[in-house]
Amino acid sequence: MNCELCGLYSDKFYKAEIEGAVLIVCSQCSRYGKILDEAEINTNENNKNSRTPHTVLREELRPDYAGVISESCKEKKVSLENLCKNILISKSEMKRILAGKLLPSDELIKKFEKYLGIKLTEPSLYKIKEPKSDTTISFEDVVEIKRKPKQG
Ligand SMILES: [Zn+2]
Repeated sequence: MNCELCGLYSDKFYKAEIEGAVLIVCSQCSRYGKILDEAEINTNENNKNSRTPHTVLREELRPDYAGVISESCKEKKVSLENLCKNILISKSEMKRILAGKLLPSDELIKKFEKYLGIKLTEPSLYKIKEPKSDTTISFEDVVEIKRKPKQG
């Protein structure tokens, strides 16, 4: 069978509570939630392709990313100037990012993470509405279930 979260085909599954929903997931996905039970799944079932995953995990920019960046700079004694030089953006651009007025691109996020040794994204669980017939799932069909509460 396939993992209810990522759709991966596997024979080792866990029953886990993730964001309030009980799902049968693979070991990879089980770490995103609380494992309730180890599920023994019969892999010889012949309808293994009939089930489509109804939830997806996406790495999302965390809402408090600006705070994480400035905290990390303070901690590592990195000046704004040095940070700009190292990730190759202008000071004004950096200020807009830190003020939350400009969202860093995926490329920039990776540069921040690499240079400061931080994580600016977090896994976010999305629920997919039942697809109508066999049309492909578009982003409009993906709705956010719940964000993790802010830490601290
Ligand atoms: Zn999975």
